[in-house]
Amino acid sequence: MYERKIKTIKDSNGKYIPEHRYIMEQHLGRKLKNTELVHHINGNSLDNEIENLLLCDHSEHQKYHLSDRLITNMYKNNGKYKHECKNCDKIFMGRKDQQYCSGKCRNKFWINNHPRLNVLIINLFLQINN
Ligand SMILES: [Zn+2]
Ligand SMILES: [Zn+2]
Repeated sequence: MYERKIKTIKDSNGKYIPEHRYIMEQHLGRKLKNTELVHHINGNSLDNEIENLLLCDHSEHQKYHLSDRLITNMYKNNGKYKHECKNCDKIFMGRKDQQYCSGKCRNKFWINNHPRLNVLIINLFLQINN
């Protein structure tokens, strides 16, 4: 369930390659080998900041995802679930039905999807929810 969505980028040969691999190659100053994988540390496969990318091999990569799953199960046992925020794509832990990482994100998403609403009403809504 992790790293389904990825960004792609055109390389110098005009070929589309995964952006996180491209960024790692730029960072290392060399091409990646077929045996090398780039893992997203925070679990968000769209977050291609170099701080979030980790070079590893296949067996290491499996371990990372295994521990990821263990963490998810741990939180499940505490009544918490791993979600991706509908507004900012951040991975967060929350209730089973929670869709946003924070009240701010919920409000932003709500406002973006109700652009014609009166500003006064939105301000009131924000005040109540902050
Ligand atoms: Zn990974
Ligand atoms: Zn968010």
